[in-house]
Amino acid sequence: MRNNFVSRFPDGTSRNWRDWRWQLRHRVTSLSALAGILERPVGDGAELRRLMSLYPMAITPYYLSLIKPDDDQDPLALQCVPDTREVECSADLADDPLGEDRSMPVPNLVQRYPDRVLAIVTHRCATYCRHCNRKRFWKTSQASSWKSRLTAMVRYVSETPKIREVILSGGDPLMLDDASLEWILSAFASIPHVEVLRIGSRVPAVLPMRITGNLCRILKRYRPLWFNTQFNHPAEITPDAARACNRIQEAGIPVSNQSVLLQGVNDSPDAMQDLLNGLQKMSVRPYYLFHCEPARGCNHFRTDVRTGLKLMEKLHQRCSGLALPQYVADLPGREGKVPLWPLSQPIKNALRKHQDFFDNFE
Ligand SMILES: *Cc1c(COP(=O)(O)O)cnc(C)c1O
Ligand code: SF4
Repeated sequence: MRNNFVSRFPDGTSRNWRDWRWQLRHRVTSLSALAGILERPVGDGAELRRLMSLYPMAITPYYLSLIKPDDDQDPLALQCVPDTREVECSADLADDPLGEDRSMPVPNLVQRYPDRVLAIVTHRCATYCRHCNRKRFWKTSQASSWKSRLTAMVRYVSETPKIREVILSGGDPLMLDDASLEWILSAFASIPHVEVLRIGSRVPAVLPMRITGNLCRILKRYRPLWFNTQFNHPAEITPDAARACNRIQEAGIPVSNQSVLLQGVNDSPDAMQDLLNGLQKMSVRPYYLFHCEPARGCNHFRTDVRTGLKLMEKLHQRCSGLALPQYVADLPGREGKVPLWPLSQPIKNALRKHQDFFDNFE
């Protein structure tokens, strides 16, 4: 943490800094607070405020402390500070390009494969990622309680014997408190045909203090449990993040990483190589590198597929096989996650069929 950074927040003591609830209470959600803490102007107020009424901002003090304030292209700032391009260059894109909302047998439970379901257990996140493909949910307030929503999901899974894996996602499931999370894990784990649980959470990168001893004791009881996180840039790999991953691993839970390929953030071979090597050093397995989806509000982050393929060629030469993720595009309909590299004929056919998902790749 930069010197004196913590003292820019009310009750900013190093003890409070390590408390995840304090971090959440002190998230930066207004442009004036952001400018004050970064000690620099942060762009056109009126336009950004309009944008933030559509896509709110929230950044944990921890994540903010990793931003270099004098770099207006800082790769972490690009991921969390609102940008007018979110509305300017995305107007014609779909809110929900994968059609998730049409693939919900019960509200908030997405099923796109017969054997796996993805439970959106909350819409909240510690830090809102500007590139989020589910940013359509950020402003949706949920009418029902989480328990009644989860009860309907648990009932559906228990009545559907083909489902062997349940993924807790969101939003960020680790926004729930330990007791609620344990209720959910235990409800799914007690269904006889559910063999494996998975948690998808960005908390190790944006709020590593959430990974407490108590949380890990709970998680440990629900193995086999797989933890997928999201680091997108080497500057996110800090001693705090490494400690968080290590705690999860010490509970006997493998940690894998899903990055999103983001223009200006990690689309250079050097940044991606440092990220992958950094993950490997934390024993975190790079799992997927997602081609950025054409979701409304995310267009300025998208690279073309050719950039992604060239990047994979370079990484293949430079990185350990253990550090190499699968470069995939999530496609609507039956295709699901399609590996893009190495580029084969069936993949070319899938790309041709979904031209709207890609710039010309040939
Ligand atoms: C990504 C995803 C999964 C998991 O896919 P894997 O390839 O097993 O990681 C499951 N369900 C939905 C709806 C998904 O989007
Ligand atoms: S943590 Fe995940 S769900 Fe939340 S804003 Fe980031 S990408 Fe979206």
